[in-house]
Amino acid sequence: MSRYEDVKRELQANPKTWLVTGVAGFIGSNLLESLLKLDQTVVGLDNLSTGYQKNLDEVQTLVSPEQWTRFRFIEGDIRDLETCKNACAGVDYVLHQAALGSVPRSLADPITTNASNVTGFLNMLVAGRDAEVKSFTYAASSSTYGDHPALPKVEENIGKPLSPYAVTKYVNELYADVFARCYEFKSIGLRYFNVFGQRQNTNGAYAAVIPKWVTSLLNGEPVFINGDGESSRDFTFIENAVQANLLAATANENARNQVYNVAVGTQTTLNQLFKLITESLYASVNLKETSPIYRDFRQADVRHSLADIGKAKRLLGYQPTHEVSRGIHLACKAYLRLTGSKA
Ligand code: NAD
Repeated sequence: MSRYEDVKRELQANPKTWLVTGVAGFIGSNLLESLLKLDQTVVGLDNLSTGYQKNLDEVQTLVSPEQWTRFRFIEGDIRDLETCKNACAGVDYVLHQAALGSVPRSLADPITTNASNVTGFLNMLVAGRDAEVKSFTYAASSSTYGDHPALPKVEENIGKPLSPYAVTKYVNELYADVFARCYEFKSIGLRYFNVFGQRQNTNGAYAAVIPKWVTSLLNGEPVFINGDGESSRDFTFIENAVQANLLAATANENARNQVYNVAVGTQTTLNQLFKLITESLYASVNLKETSPIYRDFRQADVRHSLADIGKAKRLLGYQPTHEVSRGIHLACKAYLRLTGSKA
């Protein structure tokens, strides 16, 4: 029996109150769905800047009416300390996901990214500490590895950040560590590696590669690969990230005040990714076969990324359940449902 199964059983027997910040976003709305399905009470906080009401509406259709009554949404901003304090009141576990993602966004507007990702993060730490929550888990990022060349990435060896976004995520880790040292408020940071899946934003200049490509393919638009396509990532299906959050929130004392890689531990090049996505879509819908268009490498992109997930396995009991290809298949199915194409 995996620790994850034990944790889910225990939570169902003794439901808790959770705060999910960024609840209308991709990862937040998936956490919401999983928690409500486990009969938990959830407070959600989001300012709807990059998240959507439609994500919450979709979750409502996926849980029972009774489960939905256990969700309370606060439309508010983590840059406001009082909002964070109100949201933390009476909460057992905090899953702090709210932030402005995207490396290119942070290059275009570092000040706004810093305000949500650093000031907002600090507000949430203070609010969580003062509310004496049982645990505080936050979204860290693989971007913290920066220019460190070693593969696979192990938690203790990081390089210099390559973007303002990466700086903000590293600062989160520094603040978290200082709060453990100075106030004995011990949190857990989850360094996500390229999470993908249902409800990930498909629109706009800052969309992530998988939803962007799937949307382009379904719309008959060209797919662009930045660089030669041999850059690689450890693509992580959302179910694995949800698992890591639940394990971290309920982890014991010696697993706290740590950061963990959340990934699968496999490397997929962009060329391989393109093949996986097109194979999955071609198997379901009648699309014209297409080849990607190669263009310049993107500024501040790391060349390769691959996680060592040994620490999360040892200390959290993390066992990824979804390999990349299975995740791609499920994500494509979700996007096809969304667009009304026949899967
Ligand atoms: P997302 O943009 O879908 O979700 C982020 C949510 O936070 C959005 O709903 C947005 O409206 C909300 N938000 C932003 N600023 C806010 C503010 N000031 N106050 C209140 N709400 C605010 O992105 P996501 O992919 O779900 O990312 C969730 C977290 O995971 C982020 O912290 C991100 O940096 C981190 N992360 C994601 C990935 C990934 O691959 N998706 C990788 C590494 C780290």
